[in-house]
Amino acid sequence: MIALKTEEDLVAIRENALLVSRTLAEVGKFVAPGITTKELDAIAEKYIRDAGALPGFLGYGGFPYTLCISVNEMVVHGFPSDYKLQEGDIVSVDCGTTYRGFNGDSAYTFAVGKISDDDQRLLDTTKASLFKGIEKAVAGNRIGDIGHAVQSLAEAAGYSVVRELVGHGIGKHLHESPEVPNFGRAGHGVKLKEGMVICIEPMINSGVKDVYLADNGWGVYTADHKKSAHFELMVAIRHGAPEILSTFDFIEGKRN
Ligand code: MG
Ligand code: MG
Repeated sequence: MIALKTEEDLVAIRENALLVSRTLAEVGKFVAPGITTKELDAIAEKYIRDAGALPGFLGYGGFPYTLCISVNEMVVHGFPSDYKLQEGDIVSVDCGTTYRGFNGDSAYTFAVGKISDDDQRLLDTTKASLFKGIEKAVAGNRIGDIGHAVQSLAEAAGYSVVRELVGHGIGKHLHESPEVPNFGRAGHGVKLKEGMVICIEPMINSGVKDVYLADNGWGVYTADHKKSAHFELMVAIRHGAPEILSTFDFIEGKRN
């Protein structure tokens, strides 16, 4: 069942979206060579709690941290650790919040210091594929239209799309129906309706699409150990247009 959101629900969901966006920007200020990923996690947890909210991932399915921090060939669900970020790394930070009975969830892949042109192109393309998918988040379209748009852009750039992990609805629960794959056939799948709120979150690999699960049952890595990027935004389907609820503007200095 897909929970359609009321105007009142959307008020609380927007607050979560704003908080995850600001939390990612706060973390981004500290992303630099030498900081450990555990230190980034602590920064995010404090920021979220200071806002009167709760970290949405902490304890979710047993996940033990506030952030999923996934470096280089790790796709998603990395545990913060004593690893010190190094110049040239790319680091995906995925953040969740719970506030006023609703959830927020967004992700951004940061460059650590100066990165290679190839890695910058991976980041730019992954983000572009997200926005291409968002354009299709319109009532009357289908879930497959979103995935098809993401996949087409990513594959045209020579990259591959992870199949095992997908976007999702969000609201009172972190993960709600429908699933939002980053691949698919245009015109297929669940029909998008007014009031749906979804997370679109392409995970794009620079090499093969295949991934494997780490021994801890969480970390997902690329099979060929080439780099992977992940960007995620929350989008409401409203008035015939996608309303993008979370934002990268704070991270990218476009808004304070
Ligand atoms: Mg996420
Ligand atoms: Mg998500």
